[in-house]
Amino acid sequence: MEVTVQCHQCGSALPVAATDESVQINCGRCRQAFLLTFSEAVRADRQVDRCPVCEGSDFWGRKDFDPKIGLAVIGIAILISAGFYYVGLDLVAYGILAGATLIDLAIYSRLSDLTVCYHCHAEFRGDYEQTAGAFDLHTADLLEPEYERKVGIR
Ligand SMILES: [Zn+2]
Ligand SMILES: [Zn+2]
Repeated sequence: MEVTVQCHQCGSALPVAATDESVQINCGRCRQAFLLTFSEAVRADRQVDRCPVCEGSDFWGRKDFDPKIGLAVIGIAILISAGFYYVGLDLVAYGILAGATLIDLAIYSRLSDLTVCYHCHAEFRGDYEQTAGAFDLHTADLLEPEYERKVGIR
């Protein structure tokens, strides 16, 4: 599993592989130190049960989808199909648009899961089984300030 620590001082994303039981990293930009303690399930890429950064156990999950890629595929398809539409080949134009939508769906269905810590925004990527629910704003409103007080940025 790969964990992306979010630096609470400067907001940098710091990727770390969860291999050792504990590891200390420093933020590449502001030198803030983080002592990470990975649970056994996280190291085994089995489940995200405890956050190595803040030791919280509240997570939300989504597909690891970069919307920019999906939009690029659709954008290019629209340009190409506009060309065909212009020369009167509307069926070809529609076919290209439909094809681009299928490509987007194919990309989406093959994406891996992404889990995010409610407290410190650490991200977890791997082949583990997704157990976290969808993002809940109310939970985030409760848990984020707690972490921010703990690290002293509030
Ligand atoms: Zn930093
Ligand atoms: Zn956390």
